[in-house]
Formats: sequence, structure tokens, C-alpha cells
Amino acid sequence: MNAAAAEVEVLRVAGVVKTFGAVRALDGIDLSVRGGQLVALIGPNGAGKSTCFNVINGQLRPDAGRVWLNGAEITALPPRAIWRRGVGRTFQVAATFGSMTVAENIQMVLASHRRRLGALWPRAASLYRNEALALLERIGIDALADRPCDTLAYGDVKRVELAMALAHGPRLLLMDEPTAGMAPAERAALMNLVAAVARRDDVAVLFTEHDMDVVFAHADRVLVLHQGTIIAAGPPDAVRTDPQVRAIYLGALAEVAE
Ligand code: ADP
Ligand code: MG
Repeated sequence: MNAAAAEVEVLRVAGVVKTFGAVRALDGIDLSVRGGQLVALIGPNGAGKSTCFNVINGQLRPDAGRVWLNGAEITALPPRAIWRRGVGRTFQVAATFGSMTVAENIQMVLASHRRRLGALWPRAASLYRNEALALLERIGIDALADRPCDTLAYGDVKRVELAMALAHGPRLLLMDEPTAGMAPAERAALMNLVAAVARRDDVAVLFTEHDMDVVFAHADRVLVLHQGTIIAAGPPDAVRTDPQVRAIYLGALAEVAE
């Protein structure tokens, strides 16, 4: 990790409120993530995790509060504008184009980012091929380059989604339950991959995760969200032993080896 770059605050969220009718899904959220840092946002179902992500990436407009990326305000910009400014995102549901190959999926993201999609497709099939292959090699899945996505095992689909989220060189990566549906060994492998990329390229990572083993093994910092409020924040060990967190997460945390 580049120590100087890691000091840089990539994401800052301040005072974010989001209501749905009578539900205060987010009730004043403050958080920040630095380059090269993995921050886990955990909390029970309905705590507001996905809402928080959707405000950051522009899919939801907050009722109050502001969001900055690298010091520039991005609050409520359109999702595509936020993506273009360097916010990558993976989704809970596999979002690849099945009949296209892995490399073609990456090439399409590259073409889209450079606004060359409509005019040049299907020529984009040859455009950016080398760049796509270099990215796949960097994340260790170049062997999959020419496989149609719909022939991949589930764990590999998730790795391709990660590659797609990283294709335009984001400064911030948002991952909403990236390991959902994966076997435990695959979860650890995916998060090791994310951590390696984050450290090497100084990418800030904010992720949600239900598997507490994954959270405590991979997060540099853990934020606990409960009913739209962050009730605890700190290094994994401090959060794990926080009495209020233990009360909310009694079952889940008891399973994590101490
Ligand atoms: P989490 O991702 O932590 O499970 P969510 O952010 O999805 O939680 O939801 C937080 C709260 O906001 C829940 O009470 C949920 O029912 C509500 N909520 C989320 N999205 C909407 C929506 N589009 N319309 C109405 N209520 C919503
Ligand atoms: Mg959610």
C-alpha cells in the first residue's frame, strides 16, 4: 500500500437522512473511507445498508446531508455521472451479459466509459481487447477471458462482476453483499482478491456483508448500522466486543471465533 495515498479520504458522507414515508431508513449518517481501506457496513435486515449505498451512488436522493468523492461533492448527481467520476459498484444479483464472453463484458464497460458504445458497437468487440485482458490478468481471471459468461460457475461470475466494477479504474468500490450465495471458501477468496486490489491501487472499498467471518477477517474498519443510525464504529476487534453491538448481534457474533 502506498502510505501517502492511503491517507487520502476518498468518500465522505455527512448528515445523510433518507425517509420512505414514515420509515427513517437513514437517520443522520456520517462516514468516511480512505484509499486502500476496506470498510464494512453491517447491520440487521432493514437497517438501511442498501439505502446508504443507493444514496452514495446516486440512485436515491437524500432528504438531507451531503456526499463527497475525493473532496468534490457528488450528492444526488445521476448514477451514471457518479460512476464516471470513479464510483464502481457490484450488485447482489449477477449482472453480466450471459451470451457474451468475459473479455467482451469488460470491453463493453471500457467502451461505455469512453462514451463509444453506440457508435462503434459491434466494433467494440475488437476495441479494448488488450486492455480487458490486462485487467483480467491483474485480477487473476485471464484464463476465463473467452468463456461465455453463462457457462461460468457462480463464484467466477462474481469475480467477473468485480472485474467489471473495476474496469474504469474507480477510486471507490461499493459492494452490497458481494459474497451472497457463495460457499465459505469462495467468499474468502473473493474478499482476498478485493483486498489485494484495494491495497495495490489505493481503491477505497465500502461493503455490506452478512457473514461475520468475512467481515472480521477482511475489514479494516466496521460500521454498525441499526435503524438508520451508526451505533458503533471502529476496528473489528473493538466493534466485536462492544456491548450494544453484542446485544443486537448476539447470535451472529457468538459464532465468530474470538
Ligand atoms: P438493508 O439493506 O440494511 O437490509 P434497506 O436499506 O434495504 O436495509 O432498508 C432500510 C429500510 O428502508 C427498511 O425499513 C426498508 O423497508 C425501507 N425501504 C428501503 N427501500 C425502500 C423503498 N424503495 N420504499 C420504501 N421503503 C424502503
Ligand atoms: Mg440490503
